[in-house]
Amino acid sequence: MTEARILVVEDNERNLKLVRDVLEFAGFQVASATTAEQGVALAVGDPPDLVLMDLQLPGMSGTEALRRLRDSTVTRAVPVVAVTAFAMKDDRARALSAGFDGYLEKPISVRDLADQVRSFLPATSSTKEAP
Ligand code: MN
Repeated sequence: MTEARILVVEDNERNLKLVRDVLEFAGFQVASATTAEQGVALAVGDPPDLVLMDLQLPGMSGTEALRRLRDSTVTRAVPVVAVTAFAMKDDRARALSAGFDGYLEKPISVRDLADQVRSFLPATSSTKEAP
């Protein structure tokens, strides 16, 4: 079984390292970008199974990046999960109405992250079985 490929878009190096370490330890293949522009380019060039998208990024926002991923035929169906440090009450609803497939709040839970990511993956890529 090939573990799912996750693209993490996060500008904070410490957060990025934490997420990468946790996901790699859980067996995921992880690619990363520190800007939305770079993330969109990577995703379109080699579509991952899921994108974790920080909403607060320098330059292009995570929400604009989502729109571009949805506009591209190769990434249209890739689940994109918003990650935000905003403590505002309606952030979850706002992220979901913007079209994100899910929402994770910072600080990331080291204990729960891998399971959270699996829950957002399409069933076929998280539980791939031999034919
Ligand atoms: Mn950020």
